Amino acid sequence: MAKLTVNDIDGRNKRVLMRVDYNVPIEEKDGQMVITDDTRIRETIPTLDVLINRGARIILAAHLGRPKGKREPSMSLRPVAVKLADMIARPVAFLDDCIGDKVENTANALKPGDILLLENVRYYAEEEANDPAFAEKLAKIADIYVNDAFGAAHRAHASTEAVARVVAKRGGPCVAGLLMERELKFLGEELQNPPRPFVVILGGAKVSDKIKVIDRLLDKADAILIGGAMAYTFKLAQGLKVGKSLAEPDKVNLAREALEKAKQRNVKFLLPVDNIVATPVPTAKLDKKGRPVMDLQNPRALSDPNIPDSEDGVDIGPATIKAYSEVIAGAKTILWNGPMGIFEDPRFAEGTFGVARAVADATQKNGAKSIIGGGDSVKALNTAKLGDKVTFMSTGGGASLEFLEGLELPGVAALADK
Ligand code: AMP
Repeated sequence: MAKLTVNDIDGRNKRVLMRVDYNVPIEEKDGQMVITDDTRIRETIPTLDVLINRGARIILAAHLGRPKGKREPSMSLRPVAVKLADMIARPVAFLDDCIGDKVENTANALKPGDILLLENVRYYAEEEANDPAFAEKLAKIADIYVNDAFGAAHRAHASTEAVARVVAKRGGPCVAGLLMERELKFLGEELQNPPRPFVVILGGAKVSDKIKVIDRLLDKADAILIGGAMAYTFKLAQGLKVGKSLAEPDKVNLAREALEKAKQRNVKFLLPVDNIVATPVPTAKLDKKGRPVMDLQNPRALSDPNIPDSEDGVDIGPATIKAYSEVIAGAKTILWNGPMGIFEDPRFAEGTFGVARAVADATQKNGAKSIIGGGDSVKALNTAKLGDKVTFMSTGGGASLEFLEGLELPGVAALADK
């Protein structure tokens, strides 16, 4: 069911509490906290514009990182206020708290069109506990609640869920922002009855993370193309050898069931026909868990479906890129989530970039609708400078996966239906 949005409310002079996803990557450089990717801030500007034009008094709430209920200075949202002000060329006030008298007094003094950003809601443990009393405190400054934080909507937290319940109970509108609306449209409505062929590309590390999405999409897709380490669990299910590749032997049954379901439903289920492999050699360095960091040496393409015991599969090979690109070229709707290999290493990025090019081409040349389900695939498209060549890129990682699984996201459920 579609949700009411900021376009459906009259915000004039109202105090609008807007939950945003400003969980941006931030690094210390020369004693300054620097935001290294401002996409999430930029994505909220259309909603802010609507509220500013309507003369709302805007109070923004967000989280940054995982301070786990403590005031962790490196996770302050102060630099985000500065960045936002810069991006929208108007003042953005900042307060070092998100509840209490100071917040109420400042919010009450806001004029139409003014913007106030509150400090990290996760400085309070009550936020992640979805604590009702904390939600009451947050709601004190909200005549209207807007949620534009799709990336946080899969969590039932006080600022995404309980606060909306409080506002709604006293008759205040609880509506979606324009980014939230777009996410729900592309990941939801547009995939209900997609123009066919509908091609799904899934990659990434683990079958276990994506098996529910696979299962659901097997009911809808015409073809599913598998890449990433996930492919090796499917290869195990087919009785093939995967050498030292990342795989989940305990999930082989799930993989087998998916292969069986694909056959029954007549869904093309493609696995890599060749791989880029490398020889892992332990280095003197240890990772966070105390295991030796591996140096991946001697990368090469291997067309044998069995990977030798000493080798690690790190990307899809050239024949697979070609085969997948052909299927993608025939698609009318494309959904892509997850890289085809360890694309963070340029030596193993060609599979992911090849798929990115095929998706961009299908969109631009054939008019296919391409929907990118967030996370690493978005990163890969942006790195390849193809971000503007696809139809839609989700800002949610975990949220988009859960939504694609068909789950109702708590932060969405709490908003009013149209
Ligand atoms: P996910 O979060 O499940 O989408 O997984 C993304 C991660 O999977 C990325 O960090 C990739 O480096 C990793 N990945 C993809 N393919 C492989 C592979 N063949 N071996 C190891 N890691 C991989």
